[in-house]
Amino acid sequence: MARQRPTPMLDAAKLRENALTSIRLGVEDFECSRHQGGDPARALSAIRNLFAGVLLLFKYKIATCVEDPADAAALILNPPEVLPRSDDAGGIEWVPVGNFKTTTIDVGTIRKRFEAFEIDIDWDVIRTLQDCRNHLEHLHPAHTLGEVADFVAELFPVLRNFIQLELGESPAAILGNAWKIMLLHHNFFIDTRQQCEEAWSEACVPEGMESWLNECKCPGCGSTLLAPAQESLDAGDTVEYNDDRFQTTCIACGYTVLIAPLMIVALERAHSYDPRDGDEPSLEGCNQCGRRTFLIHEQSCLWCAAELEYSECEICEENLTQADQDSGGLCSNHAHAYEKFMRED
Ligand SMILES: [Zn+2]
Ligand SMILES: [Zn+2]
Ligand SMILES: [Zn+2]
Repeated sequence: MARQRPTPMLDAAKLRENALTSIRLGVEDFECSRHQGGDPARALSAIRNLFAGVLLLFKYKIATCVEDPADAAALILNPPEVLPRSDDAGGIEWVPVGNFKTTTIDVGTIRKRFEAFEIDIDWDVIRTLQDCRNHLEHLHPAHTLGEVADFVAELFPVLRNFIQLELGESPAAILGNAWKIMLLHHNFFIDTRQQCEEAWSEACVPEGMESWLNECKCPGCGSTLLAPAQESLDAGDTVEYNDDRFQTTCIACGYTVLIAPLMIVALERAHSYDPRDGDEPSLEGCNQCGRRTFLIHEQSCLWCAAELEYSECEICEENLTQADQDSGGLCSNHAHAYEKFMRED
């Protein structure tokens, strides 16, 4: 028999304390990162501490779902490897080898534990936070300040709901001043985002492009808090017709830049494809307005709303493209056949 040493015990109270300390440190880093023009190193540290703190808090919750500290440890630590062994009767048995590891479970396993204990959480938000955490390491440090500010704002409701509903505690009571800072920042973020949305509604953004406006980030700091530039509004310009000069200003860092290219880059990113995989493009230049905003499969332009005159082949009903429009409603095969027929006639 493989010798099994007893599972280590787990000190849930310690886990909780470490979680709260990590979150408090993260908020402190966040505060400091915003002083004197911004400190990107502190911003990175804020993300690391906040993400670590949230995961610790999740693990604490898992640990409190069982009564026996040994069970709690078994749920939180990565289990030993399970290997096959002969059962001496022509079959196999699966036996855990070694001890519970000293490493703790990752986000994916936390999710499985939550499902097992019916703990609800908005995993979409957690995935966004995790992406943000993984992503930050690869970013230019100077670009992180706005992104971290967005992260802290989005973390707020997740943390609030989790602490109140799953832990049955008061966030203000257990996080103290850190909670006050997060609350103020979150409220600022929500108010500002709403003001930005209202201001954009004056700017005549093409309807098809509205969702891509929401995907835009400041090229200077990564913040999503982008407002239409006041000069552009004052000049009576619209995004739809004056995209060559309509500017946006970042509320977080003051960077000012043309808005249209940001929207088109966001659109292109979502429609990126790799020809090496045999992928086909799904986006192309529009014959009507010239912008790269024509959706090939939808047969319409997101910017100018142009649609195809001939949408399918009269003979085979195949979907037509902008390039087929000169053939009077035939696909390239049938246009070809028709031409040949006319020549022979
Ligand atoms: Zn910015
Ligand atoms: Zn167009
Ligand atoms: Zn055809």
